Amino acid sequence: MTLQQSAETIVNAKEVTTPGASSFRSRHPETQALHGGSFRYDPATGAVAVPIYQTTSFQLPGTEGADKLFALEAAGHLYTRVSNPTQDAFEQRLAELEGGAAALAVSSGQAASAFAILNLARAGDNIVSSAGLYGGTWALFAATLKSFGIETRFVDAADPEAFARATDDRTRAYYAESLPNPKLEVFPIGEVAAIGRRFGIPLIVDNTAAPLIIRPLEHGAAVVVYSATKYIGGHGTSIGGAIVDSGTFPWRDLAERQPALNEPDPSYQGKTWIEKADAIGFHPYILRARAVLLRDIGAAISPQNAFQLIQGIETLPLRLRQHTENAIKVADYLNNHPKVANVIFPKFQEGEARRRADTYFKPGTYGALVGFELKGGREAGRRFIDALKLFYHLANIGDARSLAIHPSTTTHSQLSIEDQLATGVTPGYVRLSIGIEHPDDLISDLSQAIETA
Ligand code: PLP
Repeated sequence: MTLQQSAETIVNAKEVTTPGASSFRSRHPETQALHGGSFRYDPATGAVAVPIYQTTSFQLPGTEGADKLFALEAAGHLYTRVSNPTQDAFEQRLAELEGGAAALAVSSGQAASAFAILNLARAGDNIVSSAGLYGGTWALFAATLKSFGIETRFVDAADPEAFARATDDRTRAYYAESLPNPKLEVFPIGEVAAIGRRFGIPLIVDNTAAPLIIRPLEHGAAVVVYSATKYIGGHGTSIGGAIVDSGTFPWRDLAERQPALNEPDPSYQGKTWIEKADAIGFHPYILRARAVLLRDIGAAISPQNAFQLIQGIETLPLRLRQHTENAIKVADYLNNHPKVANVIFPKFQEGEARRRADTYFKPGTYGALVGFELKGGREAGRRFIDALKLFYHLANIGDARSLAIHPSTTTHSQLSIEDQLATGVTPGYVRLSIGIEHPDDLISDLSQAIETA
């Protein structure tokens, strides 16, 4: 159920929810990507593409209705920092595709991770996080949240019980990436989600690198976060992020473990977020993130970017199919190349890492990130990057175009060689984000660059 659908409608702003729109929740992802959510067409104009509601503010109803809107006793759009119909259509589409109950769109993936934690943890609290993290998230947790008084306890995901050992009375959340690079070892989602549920602690999974092909909510994760900048947008045009709530985590039964949702909030009439959400039949975690964090921190996504991300979602299942098929072809090619020392790709993993890949990936997929090491080491890695003609050399993933980077001399260059090795970055390691071009053209570009290196 969405905020729009949940309350008595006194919305004066243009209503994007088409009356009588049917639910597509039981349909396939390809269908949900195009039809998910309650938007079917714009009732005012009949427009089928979601309009860009490029407005800061929405005309209020009479003073009594305005009171109710501001008190969150009724649903409606007031101001685009907090909600907007284009954002709402994006949120609903993504929530449905992810199998979640509700979503919040924000201005970037970084804002999504920060909000996911700040919505639960306060000064003096802690979270337990897998150490396999994107560098920006690592910095957010290790430095910025620390300066807010929120401690992050980093653990090795190879040992799920490490999450339990690091937990104490002030632990509010577990955090992990489903497919962290450079090691590309799938996180044990079900194992750690089960530990968390024992303690009343939600597992928050950053699924940026594996939308649709890893489905964290189906394995017990409570919340999924995305950098929508990557595969969801898919075209390298727009920065955005999102938080999806499963709707299955028992926030209301965890008064001591989850005080942010269960204690009265003086900034909202002294009510708890569980009470506020129940009053309008909505989900407390997403409601608080919107009403408190977007209000106070303001990392709102623009309607224009929300629109771009909707365009991305519509072809996400189709693109992921091509991304993942191409990645297998590229990885197989590299794995058989005499100048390649090592290929890092879930298909070639063994033991527990392989078991997790088989458990959590959609059958026949291994993601679209491929790491490899040339026998010539660091210098060969550099020469290889400089020789590429089709692959772009840039620090991003998930673009429709193929991308390459040499982490040791770029993204990880500030780390000592020992620290680089600890994160899995060896001197000759090259990371590829495989796009949706024809695989023969990708292999031909890699072939000529490897010969040059
Ligand atoms: N999470 C992961 C796994 C990422 O790779 C990134 C960015 O590279 C982010 C989060 C941050 O996303 P954004 O750049 O949209 O803020």
